[in-house]
Amino acid sequence: MIPKSAQLSVAAIALLCVCSSVLLSSSADAVDGNGLTASTESSVIQGNSAYCYVYIESLEDIASLDIQVHYDTEMIDLDINNAYNSASCSMYDSSLSNGCLNFSYLFDDGGSDSQTLLFYFMYTVSSEAAPGTTYFDILVNEAYDQSLDPADVSGCRCSFDIAERTVTKNCSIYTNSTQSTSIDGTFDLSYSFSTNQILSGSVTVTYDSELFELVSLTNGSFLDGKTVDSNTSLTGSVYLSFVSLEYGNGYDLMTLRFRTLQNVSTSSQISIVVSELYDDELNLVQCNGCSTTVNIAYDNTYVEDKPAMYCESSYDAQADTVTVQINLEANSHLGAGDFILNFDTSKLTYSESTKGFSPSFFNVNDKEVGEGKLKFSIISMEDIVASNTVLTVVFTPIHACTDAETTLTLTGSGLTDSMTEAIILNIRGTSQTIPLRHSYVDTVTEPTCTSGGYTTHECSVCGHSYVDSQVDALGHDLIHHDAKAPTCTEVGWDAYDTCSRCDFTTYHELAALGHDLVHHDAKSPTCTEVGWNTCDTCSRCDYTTYQEIPSLGHDYVATVTQPTCTEGGYTTHVCSRCTGSYVDTYTDALGHDLIHHDAKASTCTEVSWEAYDTCSRCDYSTYQEIVALGHDLIHHDAKSPTCTEIGWDAYDTCSRCDYTTYHELVALGHNLVHHDAQSPTCTEIGWEEYYTCSRCDYSTYLEIPVLGHDLIHHDAKHPHAPKWVGMPTIRVQGVTIPHTMSLPY
Ligand SMILES: [Zn+2]
Ligand SMILES: [Zn+2]
Ligand SMILES: [Zn+2]
Ligand SMILES: [Zn+2]
Ligand SMILES: [Zn+2]
Ligand SMILES: [Zn+2]
Ligand SMILES: [Zn+2]
Ligand SMILES: [Zn+2]
Repeated sequence: MIPKSAQLSVAAIALLCVCSSVLLSSSADAVDGNGLTASTESSVIQGNSAYCYVYIESLEDIASLDIQVHYDTEMIDLDINNAYNSASCSMYDSSLSNGCLNFSYLFDDGGSDSQTLLFYFMYTVSSEAAPGTTYFDILVNEAYDQSLDPADVSGCRCSFDIAERTVTKNCSIYTNSTQSTSIDGTFDLSYSFSTNQILSGSVTVTYDSELFELVSLTNGSFLDGKTVDSNTSLTGSVYLSFVSLEYGNGYDLMTLRFRTLQNVSTSSQISIVVSELYDDELNLVQCNGCSTTVNIAYDNTYVEDKPAMYCESSYDAQADTVTVQINLEANSHLGAGDFILNFDTSKLTYSESTKGFSPSFFNVNDKEVGEGKLKFSIISMEDIVASNTVLTVVFTPIHACTDAETTLTLTGSGLTDSMTEAIILNIRGTSQTIPLRHSYVDTVTEPTCTSGGYTTHECSVCGHSYVDSQVDALGHDLIHHDAKAPTCTEVGWDAYDTCSRCDFTTYHELAALGHDLVHHDAKSPTCTEVGWNTCDTCSRCDYTTYQEIPSLGHDYVATVTQPTCTEGGYTTHVCSRCTGSYVDTYTDALGHDLIHHDAKASTCTEVSWEAYDTCSRCDYSTYQEIVALGHDLIHHDAKSPTCTEIGWDAYDTCSRCDYTTYHELVALGHNLVHHDAQSPTCTEIGWEEYYTCSRCDYSTYLEIPVLGHDLIHHDAKHPHAPKWVGMPTIRVQGVTIPHTMSLPY
């Protein structure tokens, strides 16, 4: 079944889940925007103190802030003197009232855009605070940016658990775990604390009052200097309380001596309960009680109503001795007897013995104490009737790492009265607890800033240890360190404190900003100016990837200008890439290299000159032209051409030169007329085909003579006389043409 409060918190968690999912889904701005964060221990124990640190995501552009830290004053205690500013600002103020810690800030100009510690404070959780979750609600009351507009800065809740204070100190109380006894026997129960770092408390011991009676209560060294109140008159219980202002040195609380009242065989518990132990800081010291099992042995030698010779033992912590006192009850009528006190030599070493009375003869024989036997003999001339302390024997105990019980037995023989009549005595030994004693080696642990110092005592035999001599923690020895702003390449921090002794620090590192890169395009170098490759520089620091490319220098090409007759020479240097140039290496003008030219006489058509000079290298000249004379003309009349002779137009010639405007007109040639051929007859001439000229008497006519008759004779029939004709002629005509050569037609 779930308790009601648990049901409530389950419901509250469910409600929180709903709320947070709504918040997350509906306030994306708040997630992205500026805000406060805070951190502290996840868990603080009731009554303890811790620090809470409050950060802001960014102070960039923030001009003022007013922050309130709300908390539950019933659970948490704050001191304004334990609240520390950590932010760099022009002004701040802090105050504390009614569960509200207030920090207000003014910033001249905005701060870092990375998370910045604003302030921190120490708080103490009340010892009575209920365990569970509690929180600081850190609210932004006011926030303005540098333009004095409201700035959006969200608050936060810083939760932590209050853990229940567990008992930080424990102690134990020790006594015998078992005890043997028998009728009339006495035994001691010594109670010791495991620590002496207790100022007050009380114990109650309970026992079976039908089996045991309380004989005595002896305060132990633990109670030295303490105010003790004890009550031993109660039936079946013993009560003791104590209080003091300072711790004592001892650990032994008290010793109770009981006597066994019945001759039975049984066992019974004697228990101690411890309550309300407090140390000097009022811390409750947890201490469980303890019990002793007392075994009562039936004594079959016990004779009812007979007197006894019995032993009582005790341990003296201061002297570290066990004392055994042998007593004789009244009315024993002892006259003679030999006695042996037997003891365990592994637990007790005989030291000395002292006679308690002086009968007629009393001999103590300690020759066999090495074997655990102390013998003594008594002879009395008269019956002993008084009660007496017979012998007090002192032993040195041999301690172990646990309490050890050792049993001493007493035996008697030859018991008679002074008249040598046998008598009966109840002779009883005793048992004694030898408290544990460790072989402690002490180690001192010095206090540190946060933890107290103490001395550890550890047993070299069994390893048991305890701690005492506690001293308080030193607290931190704070050294203040100023804030350092982060740079592009180096981390910074808010103002913080460290401890000179330990590694405590409120240091909060601020990450390096990284460079704010500005890109630069490449520039080629020129003849006279440097260039660079593409590079980046930082707007905040001198970081750069700039690599200078040196200027090229001019690439001069030399051009030599030779000197002329009239002008000097020089060398011109012009840069192949730019307009840069200069001139040097001047040389003198050469002067003219003169060549002489003779004069030339005048003609009709050509210019003439006087004698003159020119220069072989340049166009220098003293030449002066004289114009031509012109022709001295003679007129000639025209002549027409004929068939066979040339003609000309009227023309001029020069009397001084062969100048002429003569233009020859060619011969006309014949204008031929055709004539057919005419064969000759016997009586008439003939001619070949021929041509004649219509303009002149030119003719190709060639006459063919008459043929004459070709006579044939005939005998006288008709008498005929013969006839004769002359020979044919050819006429040829030719002409001659002046200044020309011509062929005959
Ligand atoms: Zn030990
Ligand atoms: Zn420290
Ligand atoms: Zn930089
Ligand atoms: Zn140049
Ligand atoms: Zn010249
Ligand atoms: Zn002429
Ligand atoms: Zn003819
Ligand atoms: Zn003609």
